[in-house]
Amino acid sequence: MFHETIVHACGASEGPVSESHALMLLRRALNRRYGFEATLNGGASIRWPPVDLTAQANVLRSITLKPETPVGTLDDATRARLALIGLGDARHVLTADARHIVAGDTQIPMGESARLRARRLVAVDRGGRVRLTLAARLGLLAHDHAQTGGPDGFAMCSCGFTANAPTGEAAETVLRGHRQAVTARFVESIDAAYAAAISSR
Ligand SMILES: [Zn+2]
Repeated sequence: MFHETIVHACGASEGPVSESHALMLLRRALNRRYGFEATLNGGASIRWPPVDLTAQANVLRSITLKPETPVGTLDDATRARLALIGLGDARHVLTADARHIVAGDTQIPMGESARLRARRLVAVDRGGRVRLTLAARLGLLAHDHAQTGGPDGFAMCSCGFTANAPTGEAAETVLRGHRQAVTARFVESIDAAYAAAISSR
């Protein structure tokens, strides 16, 4: 579940939306070429129309999606486990005295398996198949492309991308464009099987 906040010309509205609705909003934003980017909490921010700096009264509309359970800190061990699960074919195994996730050849310890589920980083379907939640995927993407700062006129992304511009603000705009591009590519890459798994919950 996500919490959606819509800001429009006449005010704002908000409410809960499903994971599949959140994906639909991202796909619509992609199709309409809106600017949108993943956020560190595992959500996304969508803005339209593009900001026109010459307009006198520019009404910027936006949708902010926040996961019900924010993704939180993703340490290296967690990221490695999520990467394994993200490869597909991960299963939740239940035995008389154990319940854990198996991804490929790796058995994720029981406590850690439970933590991944409690943090809503993974979802398990009725058949025991394990997938990354949309929030986990957005959170991982945002962590991969977080701004690491820099002096005025210079901004750097944690992926190594750098922006040089006359001012710090201009550099941040370049970096935002980069984050929007990688988020758009991510949404484009979401396959039908994943979308179906989300909808079947
Ligand atoms: Zn980047």
